[in-house]
Amino acid sequence: MEPHSHHHDEDMLSVEEAKERVLENFVTLESEIVKVTEAVGQVLASDVISYLNIPPLDNSAMDGYAVVAGDTLGAGPDHPIYLEVLETISAGSLPTMEVSAGKASRIMTGAPIPSGADAVVPFELTTETMTNLSDPEHSIGILTKVTEGSDIRVAGRDVTQGAKVLDKGTVVKSSTVGLLSALGLREISVIRRPVVAILATGDELLEPGSDYVKGKIYDSNTSTLIAAVESVGGVALSLGVAADDAVTLRSKLEQAADCDLIITSAGVSKGDYDLVKDVLEEHGNLEFWSVRMKPAKPLAFGNLNFRKRPDPIPLLGLPGNPVSTFVAFEQFGRPAIRLMMGKALLDRPTLKATLVDTIHNYDGRRVYARVSVWKDEDAKVYYAQTTGSQESNILTALAYANGLGICPENISKLDPGDKVEVVMLDWSEEMVWLDCSK
Ligand code: AMP
Ligand code: MG
Repeated sequence: MEPHSHHHDEDMLSVEEAKERVLENFVTLESEIVKVTEAVGQVLASDVISYLNIPPLDNSAMDGYAVVAGDTLGAGPDHPIYLEVLETISAGSLPTMEVSAGKASRIMTGAPIPSGADAVVPFELTTETMTNLSDPEHSIGILTKVTEGSDIRVAGRDVTQGAKVLDKGTVVKSSTVGLLSALGLREISVIRRPVVAILATGDELLEPGSDYVKGKIYDSNTSTLIAAVESVGGVALSLGVAADDAVTLRSKLEQAADCDLIITSAGVSKGDYDLVKDVLEEHGNLEFWSVRMKPAKPLAFGNLNFRKRPDPIPLLGLPGNPVSTFVAFEQFGRPAIRLMMGKALLDRPTLKATLVDTIHNYDGRRVYARVSVWKDEDAKVYYAQTTGSQESNILTALAYANGLGICPENISKLDPGDKVEVVMLDWSEEMVWLDCSK
């Protein structure tokens, strides 16, 4: 690790300052009613109170016999105690007979306990599973002593009627969907998903799927941003590509009038932003920032006015290079979407890894290096290795990465063996070592 000798450009905003200035333009959106199965990733807009007990009735934890526990005193593998069998109670049906001394009812897992019974003896501890013993239709041998309450699941043990089961603000996941369904709910009130309009700009862009044209490149930012917005839980609305002329830019932006956020890519760097700047400024207030980060130094942010609506729409103008687009979205777009969705935590988790190679920081900005993180065999240490060239147009190195390793502003490089903080983009099973040294 080496300290940096560079002087900071006074006009540059730190990542934190830029993020703060972006986020102060957003609030939590209003609630909507959705099917519980479609609410994964959304935030509960109100507390969930249960109107029933779960389980609703005392029921059996095993396939076996509902008995009076006192009847089993003295029973053992070699001393069966025989009880008269009254009926079979299946899950979903109700008992019709009361169990009393000397009697038992055959009962299936989940079936309600008949009145009079206070314990269940599993089949394995009865003569049920043995051959050539007494007729199971009429009597059953109990081979063990059981205590009161044994193998009975008590009503309301999981959820008590009237209790608060989930707090407002809880993020719905698949197990939450299960719990809500167990409460009998089909729909739930959650904070709605923001609609995010996405607009790429540039005369050079071709739509993926179209024939290649010499001199052009396929538009990757639109697809990246659609995927990124949807994986955060937003609804992406692609406006396609605006050519580098004011007329198309204006008309494309018109289509964003009903969204919650507009994200554009390209046209914000020194060379060519005048056009985007002009169009954006005539419809609102746009600021062009230099953020002390690499990649993604140039950034535009502001609010656009639309004739159709009283309130302006925030616009985030990301730099055009594909890796810059991605990293800037991570820093500013993703937390803005999470904030609108009502999430308390806006940032991805980070971990400390041991760096295998070197991350350079040439000019005193905060470097977000594309790295692959994996766990050492003893699962106690994480390692990080850069996944290729760190220039902002190298998409392969981004696709091979599962994290962004941070080299702080004031450090000129991180060396092999140094600890590096990594923003984890992906925690999946595929978090394995990729040999990118070739
Ligand atoms: P610009 O900010 O317009 O100067 O663009 C910077 C770089 O990003 C240029 O090399 C562009 O060709 C490239 N670029 C801009 N938009 C896209 C896009 N949608 N997909 C892929 N590359 C892009
Ligand atoms: Mg351009």
